Amino acid sequence: MLLDQQYLFAPGPTPVPDRVKHAMNQPMIAHRSPEFPKLLEEVSTRLMPVFGSQHPVTILASSGTSALEAAAANVIEENDHVVVIIAGAFGDRFASICETLGAHVHRLNVEWGKACTPEQLEDFLRSNPKNLKAVFATYCETSTGVVNPIRELGHVTKRLTDALFIVDGVSCIGAVPVDMKEWKIDILVSGSQKALMLPPGLAFVAVNDTAKEVIRNCKAKRFYLDLNHYLSSYENDKSTPFTPAVSLIYGAQEVCNMFEEEGFENVINRHQVLKTMVREGLKAIEVPLLTSDEDASPTVTAVRTIDEPSKQIKKLLKDKFAITLGGGQKKLKGEIFRIGHMGYCTPFDVLKVLASIEMTIKILEGKNVMGIALKRAEEVWMENV
Ligand SMILES: *Cc1c(COP(=O)(O)O)cnc(C)c1O
Repeated sequence: MLLDQQYLFAPGPTPVPDRVKHAMNQPMIAHRSPEFPKLLEEVSTRLMPVFGSQHPVTILASSGTSALEAAAANVIEENDHVVVIIAGAFGDRFASICETLGAHVHRLNVEWGKACTPEQLEDFLRSNPKNLKAVFATYCETSTGVVNPIRELGHVTKRLTDALFIVDGVSCIGAVPVDMKEWKIDILVSGSQKALMLPPGLAFVAVNDTAKEVIRNCKAKRFYLDLNHYLSSYENDKSTPFTPAVSLIYGAQEVCNMFEEEGFENVINRHQVLKTMVREGLKAIEVPLLTSDEDASPTVTAVRTIDEPSKQIKKLLKDKFAITLGGGQKKLKGEIFRIGHMGYCTPFDVLKVLASIEMTIKILEGKNVMGIALKRAEEVWMENV
């Protein structure tokens, strides 16, 4: 096969459209020249509907985890009590960040592969300290392919506490609906290399007025990630406090063009179709999925690997078909593999993955399921064209 035809289906980083690559190749501009503020203002503003934010989105030059850290470091002071919902590796990371910053972390552990229900959060909040600074949740838990019911969790948080509701949307913002005001989210963060179709290197933080006030008054030590610098630079002259990743921001401008051309509603619907094609296709050939249909993410699907042959699927897909998937993380290492279907991904791309899995099963187990997952996935697609 052509060696440069590689198919990237990891749950981040994800493929970058050619248009976006070209946009990033524009001549460099000085970020203190008059051109840059126009670019920053345009992109920060055009991202507002994607983040469901009432305010321009803050853009950092760093990976998604820096946005998680920024969200925590700008509100947590030593010995603050916080609740972190942990349904997988990224919830766990949020908890580690909060612990590092000196918070008392109350871990709401949810079985990996399941979503946190509003009732679970309600019970947990009732039995834990009332003076909480924040409740942290993960919208799409990338390590299990689960989406948490963020809207409901936000409402429970605000009904029972005065805490901020802070959400990690790294692996789904750009592919899912969100409304910070209506869903009671105070801070929503994301990264560039997942559903936003960009290379790694940008982190995004959307904050509401309540969070801005807390951030302004927060006495915790921080420098590069002090959001006050970013918010005031933007307010004063639409600039950034430190050198921005100009090329990536040009890329983000092109991503906004693409979202607007397709229509963001259609972007969201396309991800629903991709998810359903993957899941129905795999079910048709009896490949076991980690999550229920109700909890399943539109951006990443986790497949259980229960016997020896199935543990070889990921490696064989890479070696024989140049398809890159994600593996299991932490306690799911060796137990699952994950298919990313977000960002620059079409129904045709899903057919590539499913066809390759069918052939891989034939190679590994001698079982002929060829065409079965494809047929089912095509039917799902047909219902949605
Ligand atoms: C990828 C991811 C992150 C971390 O982002 P990095 O860019 O790797 O730092 C955080 N949270 C979630 C849910 C993710 O999927």
